Amino acid sequence: MTDVSLENLTKIYPSGIVPAVNDVTMHIKGGSLTALLGPSACGKSTILKMIAGLLAPTSGDICFAGQSILRLSPDQRDAVMIFQNHLLFPYMSVGENVGFGLKMRHEPKREITREVNRMQELVQLDGMAKRKPSQLSGGQQQRVALARALILRPKILLLDEPFSNLDANLRLEMQQLLKSLHQELGTTML
Ligand code: ADP
Ligand code: MG
Repeated sequence: MTDVSLENLTKIYPSGIVPAVNDVTMHIKGGSLTALLGPSACGKSTILKMIAGLLAPTSGDICFAGQSILRLSPDQRDAVMIFQNHLLFPYMSVGENVGFGLKMRHEPKREITREVNRMQELVQLDGMAKRKPSQLSGGQQQRVALARALILRPKILLLDEPFSNLDANLRLEMQQLLKSLHQELGTTML
């Protein structure tokens, strides 16, 4: 499991005068489930995007297991981000969405089928493999997004308020699901 550390991380957007993220240093233990708390616009999403490699910091460093990853492209980082508005492939079935990353990695077909089945079971979507995203509820779509990310066994799963579009009951259910996935898989989650 990979420890992730942020060292004096600062981001000033080109249009910004005050930093969006100002000198943040923190250590995220490998295998932990960590939450960033703060009011809207305090810089949470900016931090997640810098870890994922979607944004370059203005200064500071991000290390995985003590090694700077700033020079690695997003796909080389093994940091997968899930957004509030899950972007599933609309023309692919649930099973194809979940297995997409493994297919891109050219994993053997049998291996993909096995992993897809396992992930669908873990996020409680078995029996829905053939449906299209449009035939699912919002909560079910978020489960597909989770399964599609976790199947890649990322070093860190970055969740940017992924359940805030769901109603209160469903949000609680998804939080519990996330906790059980964390216990089952040991993925570092932020
Ligand atoms: P949070 O996720 O905590 O709500 P953000 O990281 O989205 O906060 O935003 C932090 C600050 O950076 C805000 O003041 C926001 O307006 C600003 N910001 C976010 N994205 C951009 C951008 N692409 N360009 C300029 N400013 C941005
Ligand atoms: Mg945000």
